[in-house]
Amino acid sequence: MDSKAIIARDDAHVLHTYARSPLALVRGEGLYAYDAEGRRYLDFTSGIGVNALGYCHPAWVRAVAAQAGQLQHTSNLYYTAPCGALAEALCRRTGLDAVFFGNSGAEANEGAIKAARKYSADTYGPGRDRVLTLVNSFHGRTLATLTATGQDVFHHDFGPFPEKFAYVPAGDFAALQAAAAPDTCAVLLELVQGEGGVVALEKDYVARVAQLCQERDILLLVDEVQTGVGRTGTFLACEQYGLQPDIVTLAKGLGGGLPIGAVLLTRKVAEHMGPGSHGSTFGGNPVACAGALAVLDTLDETLLQNVRDRAAQLGAGLAALPFAAQVTGLGLMAGVALRGGVSAATLRAACEARGLLVLTAKDRLRLLPPLTLTAQHVDEALAVLRAAGEGMA
Ligand SMILES: *Cc1c(COP(=O)(O)O)cnc(C)c1O
Repeated sequence: MDSKAIIARDDAHVLHTYARSPLALVRGEGLYAYDAEGRRYLDFTSGIGVNALGYCHPAWVRAVAAQAGQLQHTSNLYYTAPCGALAEALCRRTGLDAVFFGNSGAEANEGAIKAARKYSADTYGPGRDRVLTLVNSFHGRTLATLTATGQDVFHHDFGPFPEKFAYVPAGDFAALQAAAAPDTCAVLLELVQGEGGVVALEKDYVARVAQLCQERDILLLVDEVQTGVGRTGTFLACEQYGLQPDIVTLAKGLGGGLPIGAVLLTRKVAEHMGPGSHGSTFGGNPVACAGALAVLDTLDETLLQNVRDRAAQLGAGLAALPFAAQVTGLGLMAGVALRGGVSAATLRAACEARGLLVLTAKDRLRLLPPLTLTAQHVDEALAVLRAAGEGMA
């Protein structure tokens, strides 16, 4: 089937909720994806931060294929080894005490909100259930996580929404302090707002928020769905902020390409989530967990150092591009604010025509390459970006 036929069939039958590029990808290897006509693309999107090890990393393929051929699913009525092994590895690497597995970032955040409200209800009684989130945040597309998302553009026409969410501007500690009424049970935030434009929070602001939360026993929920699993140069972005939250959520990069989400909790919060309090048919699926274990095994200190080195190289290269007004983000979550008149969508299309896949966030260019990229891949991407932006700025 050629690209035209694949696209036409999809357009005829798949709900049009995505503004897709006219590209049909059929296979991938390492940093490169290939379309139906065999054209090669250097992929600096990782399937939006999902393919942490690039396409079809041998260790990941081996682990997933072996588990699929051994036991593909059992339900959560029984124990399987990969689920526990992954939970153990996640606790060891994060210092948190317990894990609940779901299948996506939104689901992980739903679980985090439920656990926070349960802890508060058990500890303080009913009515202390408000969740504070930040303006410009993104937490998912389910009704509760959509409500938690501090961007009105996503809200239109989908109400009524769950109650007791409130938004405060990112970086404004006084606003958060004022909003943290006695009925507040949790603060939910991303350390780098990804979909919101690749904006990293200030360390001092985050430290003050954490301090306030601790003083009032407001649970701190950090959405590391995009920033987690090495993306920013440490296993969690929390490490760079000196943060020890009550709950951390993971998803995107965790499964290396298979759907998985995780809620990581301290013992204090975990104790309140007993049998029947939460569940998922697919959560903890052995094939997804085997893939995630391969990601964690591969993501050693050497690979994390590669993330930091490539991030420095990429950041310096991006800042030197004629159309770059400002480079934002952390690690391999890079945003580029563009000079006046340069459109992110136009630049993205020009890159695609030259064989480089990139993302946009708001009016910015956004890059989320696989963590396994080399210095040559960075140079290749920068050369394409420079050529694509020729004459635009
Ligand atoms: C992508 C994302 C989500 C939603 O994840 P899904 O798997 O699409 O549900 C939630 N939070 C953040 C920070 C994200 O980047």
